[in-house]
Amino acid sequence: MKERNQGPNTSLVHPEYRAPDGFSAFPTAIHHASTVLFKDVESMRTRSWHNKSAYTYGLHGTPTSFTLEGQLSAIEGGRHCVLAPSGLAAITLVSMTFLQTGDDVLIPDNAYGPNKELGEWLKQNFGIHVRYYPPMIGAGISNLIQANTKLIWAEAPGSVSMEVPDIRGISDAAHAKNVLVALDNTWSAGIAFKPFEHGVDISMQALTKYQSGGSDVLMGAVITRDTELNNRILTTHMRLGFGVGMDDVYLVLRGLQTMKLRFDAHDLSARKIAAWLKQRPEISKVLHPAWDDCPGHEFWKRDFTGAGGLFSVIFNEDIPESMTDCFVNSLAVFKIGFSWGGTHSLCVPYRIEKMREQWDQKGVLVRFNIGLEDSEDLIADIEQALVKMRTI
Ligand SMILES: *Cc1c(COP(=O)(O)O)cnc(C)c1O
Repeated sequence: MKERNQGPNTSLVHPEYRAPDGFSAFPTAIHHASTVLFKDVESMRTRSWHNKSAYTYGLHGTPTSFTLEGQLSAIEGGRHCVLAPSGLAAITLVSMTFLQTGDDVLIPDNAYGPNKELGEWLKQNFGIHVRYYPPMIGAGISNLIQANTKLIWAEAPGSVSMEVPDIRGISDAAHAKNVLVALDNTWSAGIAFKPFEHGVDISMQALTKYQSGGSDVLMGAVITRDTELNNRILTTHMRLGFGVGMDDVYLVLRGLQTMKLRFDAHDLSARKIAAWLKQRPEISKVLHPAWDDCPGHEFWKRDFTGAGGLFSVIFNEDIPESMTDCFVNSLAVFKIGFSWGGTHSLCVPYRIEKMREQWDQKGVLVRFNIGLEDSEDLIADIEQALVKMRTI
């Protein structure tokens, strides 16, 4: 029988593509998929999206995202990783997994702002008790734990005011009362702080920062050691439909290859600049965990192996906001914008007293993200802006 000629639409949908034999290259292949194909009905029925033993549907991952998840687990010393469409989505994933109506959650007063905003929503719409605790509370958190407390968030350090908490103190107190500890570990990228060695149950990363490294991708991750916790996270992930795009996953995989080198370079340059700022008469405090001006410096020394590029300063209290705004506006190499961990240096002033339940320090807080430019150029930029600031 003569073979039928296929119609034009059929041949467009079924191009004659075959992966080339003997082709070998470094990059992880970008496997796009919504539909994943099964060889027969039996394999369709027996495969489970839950245990990631095989592929079932694009929302639950392809070889590209499984590769990234494996690498992120390895960096943190975890065993399981779930990707989310942003760092904030990863935070949401954790809170929605481990909290239900009537439960209580403790969030540090210095937490990433949108985590507190999510807390307000959990309170108003879902009947969850949300309380904000002083970030340096340490083992004293034991006194705040109630019978309905299910989850304690921590951030190490707070990404604006930079307090480094006593994670061991918090996690021992939490575990004594059967409460889970989730850490926003974005600042350390998992390089400078190994959460599971300090009692953390759930580590969350904004891959948007150092992992991507390009100021061009939004993604998040939740990493655990415990299979039961991971299964609960996976169920929420499925229910919320938190899929990620494989082109973005590829960009993060590419960023990861240079992450440690970049992180160390950010760290070196940031410490030079922080040291320079420390001796400036305009600056009253350098809130960099490696300086003893910074609350929790002793915990940073005890638990961390590095620092990255993000830190803040507090200007003298006799310098008004109009002047510090002029300072930020006068910077040329530093740009004004949120986020950090990319190659470009950024600077943002914060009205921190409006963000906190407790904040008693005077003076304007300004945050620096030190990029990968030459530190001499960054110092010269800050110096000229400090001069301009005086002219208004
Ligand atoms: C950026 C950031 C997030 C959120 O990440 P997005 O990808 O921007 O949603 C969460 N926590 C910290 C500490 C961050 O810096």
